[in-house]
Amino acid sequence: MAELIDEANERAEFNISIAIANARINHDAVSATHCKGCGEPIPEKRRVAVPGCTMCAYCKSDAELKLKQERGL
Ligand SMILES: [Zn+2]
Repeated sequence: MAELIDEANERAEFNISIAIANARINHDAVSATHCKGCGEPIPEKRRVAVPGCTMCAYCKSDAELKLKQERGL
């Protein structure tokens, strides 16, 4: 019985390591160099802080605001 529990724990740890690996992949996502909203260059700081970002902070918040308005929130 103890062996079964050990196996379950090992599997859980394996799942966690996969989740961490996936998170790392996302973290390494390539950020766009230019905003897809306004075409302005995205500051390096933002590209590093928000991996995989495609918009500058201004357009992103603008897009989120529009999304909220569309959903009637
Ligand atoms: Zn922009």
